[in-house]
Amino acid sequence: MSLTISAKCSAIAPSATLAMDTKAKELKAAGENVISFAAGEPDFDTPVHIRNAMKDSMDMGMTRYTPVPGTMELRDAIIARIQADRGLTYTRGEIIVSNGAKHTLYTAFQTLLDPGDEVLIPTPCWVSYPEMVRMAGGVPVYIEGKEENGFVPSAEELAAKITSKTKVFMLTSPSNPNGCVWSREMLQAVADLAVKHDFYIIADEIYSKLVYGDKEHISIACLGDQVKERTILVDGVSKAYAMTGFRIGYAAGPQNVIKAMSNYQSQATSAPNSAAQHAAAVALTGDQHCVETMRVAFEERRNRLVELINQIEGLSCVKPDGAFYVMMNVKALIGKSYHGTVLKDSAAFAETLLMNLHTVVVPGASFMAEGYCRLSYATSMENIVEGMKRIAAFVKELK
Ligand code: PMP
Ligand code: GLU
Repeated sequence: MSLTISAKCSAIAPSATLAMDTKAKELKAAGENVISFAAGEPDFDTPVHIRNAMKDSMDMGMTRYTPVPGTMELRDAIIARIQADRGLTYTRGEIIVSNGAKHTLYTAFQTLLDPGDEVLIPTPCWVSYPEMVRMAGGVPVYIEGKEENGFVPSAEELAAKITSKTKVFMLTSPSNPNGCVWSREMLQAVADLAVKHDFYIIADEIYSKLVYGDKEHISIACLGDQVKERTILVDGVSKAYAMTGFRIGYAAGPQNVIKAMSNYQSQATSAPNSAAQHAAAVALTGDQHCVETMRVAFEERRNRLVELINQIEGLSCVKPDGAFYVMMNVKALIGKSYHGTVLKDSAAFAETLLMNLHTVVVPGASFMAEGYCRLSYATSMENIVEGMKRIAAFVKELK
């Protein structure tokens, strides 16, 4: 044998969002005045009562392994939260806690997919879904969401992609990266197809608390027992409670799927961090005002960012209804050059902007959306205004 990396692992692309975020943090550490629209994490401090819970957990002796699918305390907190927010009833055996929702999603794909099974993914999509599907031996099948339709595909476009190998529909509402919130009508169309063709729905609801204007988040599992039986509802504490570093995510779903995920997790990673599980339980059961305070701040930033983007000639964006991302359309600027550097695609746009104006955006190609760059508004209003000033100056120089 030779000293090689496996073919499976060599084929994995690193996460573009984390790569851009790391680049921004490195430049900042080197003393550069960087404005980053890359971060997919709230810039707010974790609320103080949650931080205190984390400190208390040590004195409470939470220093040992917990049951693989999570502590009784946290699973009960999750059950109560889901019941209060969505009116859905789950039992302890239908809940699993993992090291962040990313880990939950990874385990769900590993649990559900056999080689060649197809996963329907509306695009633009979060960077990690296609790679996770491939890591589990599955095949990503993309359904293009067009900007003029708010990035949500039609029921016909969706139905056209279903084959006998369709195992999972990947639903992300509110969406990362495009911020769309799926309507009840479209969710019903997905639900009807899932029941008719017997496939699972993985509903990534990590941004469910971040919805703006008159839009509301609807959980697809609420559309009837037959849909609920086919849905793995994924959520976590990272985004709603500014707890990205705690690494706690969870799933609620059919008992046989959750049991299989727990078996997989028992061999791969065991239960997540016990102290963080206590802090997450306090977050889910404690005062929820902090969630609303952050949501309101995100909505104000969204409004300002969208306004600033649409003021710049050559750039545009649709107003997203949820999460904290905007897809900035840069198509009109592709092919132009910045002091001799040709912007041949969204990656070149992002790279040239970063190198010259120290402003970080994530190129669209990694979200299956060439011609766009993703901007996160999980950053201060001051940074948003300064960052957009730099982007306007950059665009002005393009020939
Ligand atoms: N799903 C989506 C759509 C996300 O943007 C993220 C953010 N990383 C996650 C899942 C995972 O979040 P975490 O692992 O921090 O819970
Ligand atoms: N979900 C965030 C993002 O899309 C965090 C980084 C990641 O895990 O991809 O930027």
